[in-house]
Amino acid sequence: MNSTETWFVQLLEEHGVAISPLQLQQFQSYYALLVEWNEKMNLTGITEREAVYEKHFYDSVTLSFFMNMSDVSAVADIGSGAGFPSIPLKICFPHLRVTIVDSLNKRIQFLEHVVQELGFQHVACVHGRAEDIGRLPAHRDAYDVVTARAVARLSGLNELCLPFVRKGGVFIAMKGSDPAEETAEAKRSLSELRAKLTKVHHLKLPFEQSDRHIIVIDKLADTPAKYPRKAGLPLKQPIV
Ligand code: SAM
Repeated sequence: MNSTETWFVQLLEEHGVAISPLQLQQFQSYYALLVEWNEKMNLTGITEREAVYEKHFYDSVTLSFFMNMSDVSAVADIGSGAGFPSIPLKICFPHLRVTIVDSLNKRIQFLEHVVQELGFQHVACVHGRAEDIGRLPAHRDAYDVVTARAVARLSGLNELCLPFVRKGGVFIAMKGSDPAEETAEAKRSLSELRAKLTKVHHLKLPFEQSDRHIIVIDKLADTPAKYPRKAGLPLKQPIV
């Protein structure tokens, strides 16, 4: 193990996430693919190993510190980009059935390659806009947990993500600095979309010490048929 892997394994273990040698190897392969493909396409601004493990891998897994992942089966990751948070979560919790949605086909192609190289089963990479995919019966009101990290402000993001969540499931928005203003602005979209913000967890990244917030939103009832609106509208004209 190199020094990055040593702290990574230890800090995750302190939070009850055990990483086997195979899983550590999967993180290493994912890191290598990320750096290799990043030379051909824009996947991430962060490529130094230590930083990727902290700001992408560890950060993605923090979601699991606040929920019992063995109770979760189907996860959708909206606007996953280079695979965050869903790929690190899938490595740590291989039982998850993961659907990744992104509107940029190049990133979906990268993720399909990652899925193949890491030998994952039950990971579907879907190219399209969340507004369109969230209307398809296979994906609507279907997932236990829906995640989105660094995609958009909550008022618009609710409309992109909540249609995917099953009634009784949760939408988890992963944010950086204090989201108080955003959560206040998102009140109307939550009630329109039959959802309720139940908790905002705060944590700091272990070395960089920057703030992270994990917003937990419960879906109380099926999404009304009129949502999401036409592609583009949820972020351009959020429900406020
Ligand atoms: N979640 C990743 C992360 O934390 O690194 C990526 C964040 S990146 C800033 C936002 C991603 O959302 C991009 O890959 C973009 O293509 C995708 N995206 C933006 N709007 C979208 C939409 N309406 N439907 C699906 N994906 C979308």
